[in-house]
Amino acid sequence: MRTDATVASAAPGCSSPSPSPSPADVAAPTPEPFSRVPAESPLVDVMGGASRWETRLHEHGFVALVDAMPRLVPEGKTADFAIVQAARVSYGQGTKQVNEDRGLVRYLLRHRHTTPFEMVEFKFHIAMPVFIARQWIRHRTANVNEYSARYSILPDRFYRPPVEHIRKQSKSNRQGGDGTVDVGTAEDFLKLLDRAEELYKDYTDLSERGVARELARSVLPVSVYTEWYWKCDLHNIFHFLSLRMDEHAQLEIREYARAMYDMIKSIVPISCEAFEDYRLNAMHLTALEIQAIKSGSPLATENKREQSEWDEKRATLGL
Ligand SMILES: Cc1cc2nc3c(=O)[nH]c(=O)nc-3n(C[C@H](O)[C@H](O)[C@H](O)COP(=O)(O)OP(=O)(O)OC[C@H]3O[C@@H](n4cnc5c(N)ncnc54)[C@H](O)[C@@H]3O)c2cc1C
Repeated sequence: MRTDATVASAAPGCSSPSPSPSPADVAAPTPEPFSRVPAESPLVDVMGGASRWETRLHEHGFVALVDAMPRLVPEGKTADFAIVQAARVSYGQGTKQVNEDRGLVRYLLRHRHTTPFEMVEFKFHIAMPVFIARQWIRHRTANVNEYSARYSILPDRFYRPPVEHIRKQSKSNRQGGDGTVDVGTAEDFLKLLDRAEELYKDYTDLSERGVARELARSVLPVSVYTEWYWKCDLHNIFHFLSLRMDEHAQLEIREYARAMYDMIKSIVPISCEAFEDYRLNAMHLTALEIQAIKSGSPLATENKREQSEWDEKRATLGL
């Protein structure tokens, strides 16, 4: 049998093909041994040796942190160190001017130098109602693996808001709730949820009678729970959190976002402090708004929404 080596050496223009190589000639070369550099100081687990940090939400939901990268950090450091480590490779000698870790992290976040924040990753296991999962999945930069309701029967778990969270449709924000409905309306809403949950028995009965699970599930309401593993880097988690911890996001996803944030805060405290200072509690001013402040005149717009956004900002700024 001709080996590839033989074919190659017998290519046109080669007058005398080499003899077939011996097995020793084609064996993979022995890899160079790599050096294992010992850590300068002992390494500690950012999750304190735990396999899971879990926060329960509502009756059936949870957010669980199941892994982090870096998982091991030099004693006395937090996982923020991975951001500093990555940043120093790009800034090289220049970093000496801002070589204090906290100052560097804050500088990077303030100036949107984002890639060092991608060096930190978190993996979560989350159980949430499908209507929350639909909002969550829009964040495309995470890696997700979800429970398959084609393969398995969905567990009998449904979201029921506490009465004080049964909100009235907001008049000012078409997408939001505002205040609570009266007690009678809240009770009627809970009864309607009961009726939707009663479909669960039909779902399991029809599945047992042979209807494919992928079809049988279509009768279930969006209050049914799903779960997934969700892995994302810190830069994109901050993006997710800035949108989903915001008061314009739906209350239920805000509760998940808050639980997630509280977990990562102890692992990357310096980055979270910078995130709060420069993103979460910060404010973006438009060119028109800057002009209005400078000139002391009204905002140059006839757009009511833009005007009310400016009013909110002025109130925050005490103007
Ligand atoms: C309060 C609120 C209300 C909303 N209302 C609606 C609604 O009514 N209808 C609706 O459909 N959605 C709605 N959304 C979803 C919203 O439009 C975004 O889809 C969602 O917030 C994800 O944002 P993102 O794309 O920035 O995030 P990610 O998908 O996490 O992406 C992060 C960033 O990566 C970049 N990126 C990722 N993928 C791509 C790509 N393929 N091409 C180019 N850049 C990319 C972008 O810069 C993006 O900002 C709402 C979101 C919020 C927070």
